[in-house]
Amino acid sequence: MNKNWIDVSVDLSPELPTWPGDPTLSISKFHDMSKGAVANVSQLSLSAHTGTHMDSPFHFFNDKVTMSAWTPEVSMGKCKVFEVKDKVSITAKELKTFDIQKGDNIIIKTFNSSYEWFKKPFNENFVHFAEDGAAYIAEKKIQFVGIDYLSVGGPKNGIEVHHHILGAGIWIVEGLYLKDIAPGEYEFICLPVKIKGADGAPSRVLMRKI
Ligand SMILES: [Zn+2]
Repeated sequence: MNKNWIDVSVDLSPELPTWPGDPTLSISKFHDMSKGAVANVSQLSLSAHTGTHMDSPFHFFNDKVTMSAWTPEVSMGKCKVFEVKDKVSITAKELKTFDIQKGDNIIIKTFNSSYEWFKKPFNENFVHFAEDGAAYIAEKKIQFVGIDYLSVGGPKNGIEVHHHILGAGIWIVEGLYLKDIAPGEYEFICLPVKIKGADGAPSRVLMRKI
């Protein structure tokens, strides 16, 4: 494989913060060779929205498509990475300074990638979309958006932000770690685990500079 691919997914590990009120992640040895078993077999218990993961429109809309409607065109190809400087939220005002076009795949790098956010505790002050920022990308009719924390929306506006984005049929990947990614154009591959009818799915995401 080409060495220039950068893995921007986070480890699934018990150290990961999870969304308050959602199931926490647990990984245990169901069969353990150090205890005499013939093989090691891990048991996982997790939410579909753990670590680096996709949201399908069904996450917030009962009448919209699930992860089963995912096709490779949804989250593979070219993407534009923009770096937002605002340390609180991703506003329409700042997004308007970027070249965002209909059908674009965009990934937003924020202050979240300046620290190891994938280690507990959950940071409720993570940088997230302002409602007007979410409305702006919906209006622009982009195809796909990625962000470097567990949710596109914050603890106070998560519902509204998801409604704007998923309501516009835009697919989402959350939980990226973009420390080594500078703004610019990339090829990307985001592959969700194939969970039938799911509202979300843990995903592996790779990026390569064009
Ligand atoms: Zn989400």
